[in-house]
Amino acid sequence: MSEELNRPLAQLWQKVLEKTDGIIHEDVVNTWIAPCVPVACEGHELVLAVDVAARKQYIETRLGALLGDIVQQALGADYTFSVVIDPAAAAPKKPAKKEKDPAAEYGTAESIDPPAPTQGSLPLTPPAETNAPAPDDASTLNPKYTFEAFVMGRSNQFSYSMAKAVADAPGLPSHNPLFIYGGVGLGKTHLMHAVGHKILADHPEKRVLYIASTDFTNEFIRSIREKNMDAFREKYYHIDVLLIDDIQFFTGQEQTQTEFFQTFNKLRDNGSQIILTSDRQPQDVKGLEDRLISRFAGGVVVDIQPPEFETRVAILQKKAQSEDVDIPGDVVTYIASRVDSNIRELEGALTRLIKYASMMGVPIDETTCVAALGNYLRGEKGRRITMEMIERIVCTHFKVTSEDIRSTKRSNDIAYPRQIAMYLCHELTDVSWPTIGGFFNRDHSTVIHAHKKIQNQTSEDAATDALIKSLSIQIKGI
Ligand code: ADP
Ligand code: MG
Repeated sequence: MSEELNRPLAQLWQKVLEKTDGIIHEDVVNTWIAPCVPVACEGHELVLAVDVAARKQYIETRLGALLGDIVQQALGADYTFSVVIDPAAAAPKKPAKKEKDPAAEYGTAESIDPPAPTQGSLPLTPPAETNAPAPDDASTLNPKYTFEAFVMGRSNQFSYSMAKAVADAPGLPSHNPLFIYGGVGLGKTHLMHAVGHKILADHPEKRVLYIASTDFTNEFIRSIREKNMDAFREKYYHIDVLLIDDIQFFTGQEQTQTEFFQTFNKLRDNGSQIILTSDRQPQDVKGLEDRLISRFAGGVVVDIQPPEFETRVAILQKKAQSEDVDIPGDVVTYIASRVDSNIRELEGALTRLIKYASMMGVPIDETTCVAALGNYLRGEKGRRITMEMIERIVCTHFKVTSEDIRSTKRSNDIAYPRQIAMYLCHELTDVSWPTIGGFFNRDHSTVIHAHKKIQNQTSEDAATDALIKSLSIQIKGI
């Protein structure tokens, strides 16, 4: 057995990421490869989890051969890789490697040319991640994301009513821009598309553009490279409604931010409506220039919270209705009480149940629900995660013992797994700081310190981030 097999997964993955250097363009790595989460190494097959089918498909069809070669170069000639889909693997898009020097960012037309791939041929700009059509087409609005399909509840009431107000009177200075923030899968994108649909229905002549912030960045880079900035500005300066999604990904992109600042001002001066979304409020988006923060916060800022039980039930019922499937009330309650944080997962659970029932030819009842969703729901309320479970998985991963982890040893090979375990205990259980400290024979302030340290590392270092995700997936038993 190769020695590589015994290495922790994250290290294997880090080696692969490092090998991409100079072979696959950094933007492609950051957009498509770095968000993969290594979940297993079975035999010589490295198993990577990705969040959506589009990513799997893209990696397999467009990057497959090249990544296969890189995996072999990094780990050994007998290594291969495979990709599985797991919505829980959704990883933030951020630089996988060292931060770029902001001053050098896209400095000259030459400097932004990506290094030529040594094998195969790659798109210079990664295409949109979803199945959405090209961004410079108003039909990029998802036809399913309408106000009619949106269930309002206490958690999204304010955002919903502001979105409606904007849709009814786009461009009013009092609600321009509209800034919607909230966690993953809570309906931000849906809501901004709904505004776009409504405005287009009322004013078909209006130019409505939806674009993910990463696509804006890519388009901007391409325009500089192709010396085509006039066309870029011509396009963006003449939009009536700009919907720009997930602006937290502007982090650290100084030139893009400068360009966006100009676009923003121009559009606002023209009375065009701007809607922005982010996973956090403007002042909390790291690496965003102050002048942008104040512009973004200069209209209305609204948040979406995770849906409460009644809203989750209503969403499931609506979804079942739209799929024309009858779901008994107790099954709806069963799912709604177990999937409680993310509407995308809620929908995923329902879709999985419907598919399972039709494939197996069984009725949709609670038994089918348990059979179809058992694993899917285990990490949720259904199975309580304990500190012992976390300790066991962390110890196995790092090949250390429980005695070691709870001992006074301070060498890095023991202290690091201990900090990871403490971090995960806080993230995955409801246990208090002092109780976590007691479990590891430490003071509560040591736990808080460890948590902070690992948290910083996860946001700065793709390997740690991948490690935490991979351990969490194992602990949740997904
Ligand atoms: P976000 O942009 O916040 O990550 P999305 O807008 O992509 O979330 O929503 C995730 C999924 O959940 C989408 O399929 C969306 O249609 C659905 N969804 C979110 N909120 C609601 C809601 N209030 N009512 C109905 N469906 C919703
Ligand atoms: Mg979104």
